[in-house]
Amino acid sequence: MDKSRKRVLVAGGAGFIGSHLCKSLLDGNYKVIAIDNLLTSTKDNLKDLLKNPEFTFLEHDVTDQISNFKFQISNLDYIFHLASPASPNQKSARSYINHPIETLLANSLGTYNLLELTRQFNAKFLYASSSEVYGDPAISPQKEDYFGSVNPNGIRSVYDEGKRFGEAITSGYVRKYGLDARIIRIFNTYGPIMLADDGRVVSNFINQAIENKPITVYGKGTQTRSLCYVDDMVSGIKLAMLTPNTKGEVFNLGNPDERSILDIAKLIKSLTNSKSKIVFEDLPIDDPKSRKPDIAKAKRILGWEPKVSTERGLRKTIDYFRNI
Ligand code: UDP
Repeated sequence: MDKSRKRVLVAGGAGFIGSHLCKSLLDGNYKVIAIDNLLTSTKDNLKDLLKNPEFTFLEHDVTDQISNFKFQISNLDYIFHLASPASPNQKSARSYINHPIETLLANSLGTYNLLELTRQFNAKFLYASSSEVYGDPAISPQKEDYFGSVNPNGIRSVYDEGKRFGEAITSGYVRKYGLDARIIRIFNTYGPIMLADDGRVVSNFINQAIENKPITVYGKGTQTRSLCYVDDMVSGIKLAMLTPNTKGEVFNLGNPDERSILDIAKLIKSLTNSKSKIVFEDLPIDDPKSRKPDIAKAKRILGWEPKVSTERGLRKTIDYFRNI
């Protein structure tokens, strides 16, 4: 074991983005401790990483007492908080709609616990917020200074308001204690390791297309999303943590290449040479009509922008799903 390596804690390290982040940090010579309660993720995502002596996995809930964290972890340099259910699809058992209280607590009590840990170790903190803080946005593209349009008690509110609380408490620690913390707002992200069964648009459409089953477009498919390939997302997350003078900053991270859901369905059908029909189902309640990040701030301060085109990223993701 190399003692000179910086020590990183990734909360939610077994999740889709979390496990990619752990891998990238290990490749970059960090020592990585992942914690996860495996509520909506799986340890399979870590099977290669577990062979690495610089990697440790602890099955642990971020809402658990701070003293329990401290007992097992010491000398942290960086703490990334990505621990939360993230899928809004109520048809999936893994969605935040089906784990409402856990979602609220992971982002509130869980964020509090991790901020306290950051303070005790004099570490740096990154809170993974979401484009969901913009709710059903009245402006497009969404810039960091837009306050959003969120239903405070609707079906998605456990996630939206959880993320908004997480941002508020992170900002509170920066103001009150001068903590070196930053916030990122993750827009729709996709790629290998995405779960096939959590009901997100890209995984649903690809799996339906490769099995020649109907591709289920919700509503008329005129709602838009901007899809970011996971490698681009991970490089943005690392830059937000590691770039000097980012304390207290909020960054949108996503790919501004905005497309309608119907166009995404057609594109995936064509990239897979699928015989699937495109069918239309009910639009979920409070489904946002548009999503497009303004990433000018991340470009200016982090020197970051996505490099993988939607077509290329989808091809890589299709290859992954064909091979599992
Ligand atoms: N969607 C769809 N068919 C599906 C899954 C999702 O039309 O099988 C739509 C969904 O209604 C939303 C968009 O795709 O408008 C993105 O959904 P996702 O669950 O991936 O995430 P969101 O951006 O809503 O958080």
